[in-house]
Amino acid sequence: MKNRKHGLNTVCTHTGELKDEQFKGAVSPLYMSSSYAYDDVDIKRYPRYFNTPNQEALCLKIAALEHTEKALIFGSGMAAVSTSMLAFLKSGDHVVVPRQIYGGTYNLLTEEFDKYGIRYSFIEDTKAESFENAIQENTRLLYLETPSNPLLYITDLAAVSDLAKSKGLLTMIDNTFASPVNQNPADFGIDIIIHSATKYMGGHSDICAGAVAASAEHIDQIFQLAKNLGGSLSDYTVWLLERSLKTMGLRVRAQNENAMALASFLKKLPEIANVYYPGLKDHPGHELACSQMNGFGGMLSFELGPAISLEQFVKSLQLVKASMSLAGVESTLVIPAKTSHGLLSVEERKQAGISENLIRFSAGIEDIKDLKEDIEQALEHSRIKSEVLDS
Ligand code: PLP
Repeated sequence: MKNRKHGLNTVCTHTGELKDEQFKGAVSPLYMSSSYAYDDVDIKRYPRYFNTPNQEALCLKIAALEHTEKALIFGSGMAAVSTSMLAFLKSGDHVVVPRQIYGGTYNLLTEEFDKYGIRYSFIEDTKAESFENAIQENTRLLYLETPSNPLLYITDLAAVSDLAKSKGLLTMIDNTFASPVNQNPADFGIDIIIHSATKYMGGHSDICAGAVAASAEHIDQIFQLAKNLGGSLSDYTVWLLERSLKTMGLRVRAQNENAMALASFLKKLPEIANVYYPGLKDHPGHELACSQMNGFGGMLSFELGPAISLEQFVKSLQLVKASMSLAGVESTLVIPAKTSHGLLSVEERKQAGISENLIRFSAGIEDIKDLKEDIEQALEHSRIKSEVLDS
């Protein structure tokens, strides 16, 4: 189905669906075959060639969602990140990356790239001029994530893309935090768009998958490496992901609403020191977010004030669980100082603006009244007694 004319929810529901000609079932049939007879030498179907019927159909939906020509799906977000980066970088090449990127991507660079002779520079903020200042003669790629983890900084997509084009460089974005519902980087000239589909695309905390969307030329280049590295996604998970994507627009828009309501609610509470959410007018990236995002997203962060025990607060929450990962229909949180940024020293965290009592919150789709009540009762149960504070 041609999709550009259709709205987001229609694309989520229908684009790329496989027809059940035999029984006329409502959903795409699942083809689990790992062996396909071939009568046309040009089409040899095989799961690791990323071309089973279900894989190809899902890629049409993802490309349509990200306004690109083509897409590929992988066994994890990191398979998508590593394959996409390595497809364009060779020994001696250089990539510019903000230090605040997802920890797994940071580890990929710092633990693996040296082995392959690939150079990288970290920049300390997400401004286009910082990317520009870090460009060297051998720079090939500018890599970004916006909104960033965990403080939701916003990078100017058009400015980075214009900069890259003026220097003949590629741009690659991890668009996981925004999801295709809230941000379509291709519209701003970004070349390659990556998702941990484990997050908003899957949305139910039961799938591990990755996706990359780009022009046909770029996807073909990524595919050449992908088939050799072998990070394809099993057809059963492809089918589950297709099902999840049907409700992505509904889920993510509900998560946006809950995140906005929670950010405004937390901001008014005297027990909360700071709230970071691009939807708030006083967030430094608010204006930029308004100009390049369709919604402010389901992720927010906040700091507890000195009168609240972090440990007790987390233990006292009843609906919201401290959990790895994010973006499921259930609200979850992580403490960056103990998880994603746990390997940094307190001083390094301070420099990055990550305080010890910062909480990164992934808004789910629960009724907002219940989330607020859960937070209120947890704050009530985690007040530090005044004699302890005075001592
Ligand atoms: N990118 C971001 C922003 C993430 O949060 C994650 C996982 O948490 C990944 C990439 C890696 O995805 P996966 O765990 O599916 O490999």
